[in-house]
Amino acid sequence: MRWLLGVSFGELMLKGKNRKKFIKNSIKQVLKALHGFNIGEHFLDHEKLFIEVLDTTEFTKIIEKSTMVFGLSYVYPCIQCGKNFEDIEKSIVELIKNKNYDEKKSFKAFAVRADKSFEMNSMQIAAKVGGMVLRNFDNFYVDIKKPEVHVHVDIRQKCYAYLEKYSTIGGLPIGTGGRALLLLSGGIDSPVAGFEMARRGVEIGAIHFHSYPFTSERAKDKARRLAKQMSIYVGEVRYFEINMLNIYTAINKNCRERFTTILSRRFMMRIAEKLAEKYRFDGFVTGEALGQVASQTIQSISVVNDATRLPIFRPLINMDKSEIIEKAKWIDTYDISIEPYDDCCSFFAPERPVTKPRLYDIEAEENKLNIDELVEKALETLEIFDIIVE
Ligand code: ATP
Ligand code: MG
Repeated sequence: MRWLLGVSFGELMLKGKNRKKFIKNSIKQVLKALHGFNIGEHFLDHEKLFIEVLDTTEFTKIIEKSTMVFGLSYVYPCIQCGKNFEDIEKSIVELIKNKNYDEKKSFKAFAVRADKSFEMNSMQIAAKVGGMVLRNFDNFYVDIKKPEVHVHVDIRQKCYAYLEKYSTIGGLPIGTGGRALLLLSGGIDSPVAGFEMARRGVEIGAIHFHSYPFTSERAKDKARRLAKQMSIYVGEVRYFEINMLNIYTAINKNCRERFTTILSRRFMMRIAEKLAEKYRFDGFVTGEALGQVASQTIQSISVVNDATRLPIFRPLINMDKSEIIEKAKWIDTYDISIEPYDDCCSFFAPERPVTKPRLYDIEAEENKLNIDELVEKALETLEIFDIIVE
């Protein structure tokens, strides 16, 4: 008998020919999430993953970590035993004793037989398991409608018994949805946007634009800490930093003030596109929500889109600020985001920004600038890190 963490894969079961790749990816992510715990071997048994847990006092933390991995359906602590009823009984007794139930408890036995060569069918196994529980525990009684305790026995290649399942945050395994570069400001929205895309299996890189020394070292550090907090969910984040001060200075000097935000956003997209080409990202993610601020209108979005040929995903587009804040709190980025260190945009934000920009007005402003040279100069300030939570 030994204790294992069982892992069931969810939605990916529907994905036909991609299934093998998805499972492989999920295994990698789960093992990454459990790095540092006292775990032993892992193996697949009829498309469920089992990971040996050598120190059972770590189970609470192990469950906490593994339920945050995208692409899983549920996880459960279980005992693996011999494929015979003597061993099954021992395992069930151990599982229930481990729980220290002292009052009366209703229960129901559930059985799955993935190994069709096993001598009994699942109904017969469940009935036998029910009998075992009654024989060993006076305080247990059967309730098939609303049982308090679920006693599961799975006959697969090997045999497993367990009482509880923990549902996970869902989604698809990271890496199965391509790679996208998140434009990470220091605000509340962009980390949530990155999380939402990662939930659909997209591997996330992050790019932060700063205006050091006009903006502080703390502002840079804040964005890095946001990426680090995100990486708990999204895995390793390739992190890019670019100094935009030369661009803001040129815009300030040459262009009409009310176009500053939209012009700088288009520069961000051009720079991000150069990096996407070099570091193989398939698209971008931003934290815009329609109508949230004056610059987040369909017209602005359209003018920003025009600056790049790659798609820009905006997973928060229809969300209310209150919903975004709730999510930011849930992934623990909120407290970092509300720290007062500002990024470059807030410093250079015009008092009355254009809300319905027209492309030809923007192009007229850009004609006053040497775009390629400004982009090249900004790219020279590139710094790259890999950010990961140990
Ligand atoms: P956030 O809360 O993410 O800062 P916001 O509501 O403040 O968003 P804007 O300032 O209009 O909105 O920025 C829209 C999006 O542009 C951000 O969500 C982000 O994806 C991107 N962005 C803005 N500033 C920066 C920056 N300094 N570095 C990287 N990306 C940025
Ligand atoms: Mg912002």
